[in-house]
Amino acid sequence: MKKFDQKVAVITGSSHGIGAAIARRLARDGAAVVINYASNAAAAESIVAEITSAGGRAIAVQADVTKAADIARLFEETERAFGRLDILVNNAGIGVLKPLDEVDEADWDRVFALNAKAPLFVAKEAAKRLGPDGRIVNVSSSTTYFPLANTAIYAASKIVPRMYTEVLAKELGARGITVNSVAPGPTSPGMFENAPAALQAEAAAQSPFNRIGHPDDIAGVVAFLVSDDARWMTGQHLLVNGGATI
Ligand code: NDP
Repeated sequence: MKKFDQKVAVITGSSHGIGAAIARRLARDGAAVVINYASNAAAAESIVAEITSAGGRAIAVQADVTKAADIARLFEETERAFGRLDILVNNAGIGVLKPLDEVDEADWDRVFALNAKAPLFVAKEAAKRLGPDGRIVNVSSSTTYFPLANTAIYAASKIVPRMYTEVLAKELGARGITVNSVAPGPTSPGMFENAPAALQAEAAAQSPFNRIGHPDDIAGVVAFLVSDDARWMTGQHLLVNGGATI
């Protein structure tokens, strides 16, 4: 018997990086997982193949989670494939690294649509289906605690899911559903793999472990938050950054 046998998990943005690691980890522990992606079907299908060839259960669902109709379809397809929903990980996100004089409205709209708007409407659709002991984890960012230059739009957008975490914990607690967040530090593979080499080296030097995070480092913490062991935690934020800010 595995820890998440009989559980069904939707992980948004799980065709790459942190989301893919979370999907692999929950599947390894017995959950049926939905690999959501926006455009990279081949990457999503290869993660499904990896999980199913190891004896796990997984499907890939293309859905742009900034769009209400796509969100609804994501959960309809989940229900059709696996018949229930226990875990939502609001992980899909995009970054923008630009100084003030280069940012524009299009950047703000694009980043806020995914990082700030989507997690609420995905949670709304998920909450219609989550049973007692349901779990929601929002993926925020360490930049919301320790701001970096050139991240005004990104860091501001990632504060929003932290606030949803606390408000929705209050709204959904009566149903036994927990809502928590993780705030990863710089992590690669993932969006940080495209950061300039000097920034990656600087980030590694800030951790007592002298490296940046790997997606598996984040996935383990998410696996804890969605487990029964975390049943008495809700509305909380875990900073998962290799101690970079102590
Ligand atoms: P990646 O860029 O590696 O992966 C992003 C994932 O999101 C991909 O699967 C992508 O799918 C998907 N995606 C993008 N747009 C959409 C959309 N509109 N609808 C559905 N899915 C979408 O990101 P990371 O793994 O690095 O980041 C994951 C989360 O972790 C994000 O919320 C990010 O803010 C957060 N984070 C990351 C850190 C890091 O250093 N990596 C640090 C702190 C927080 P496709 O390829 O098909 O577009």
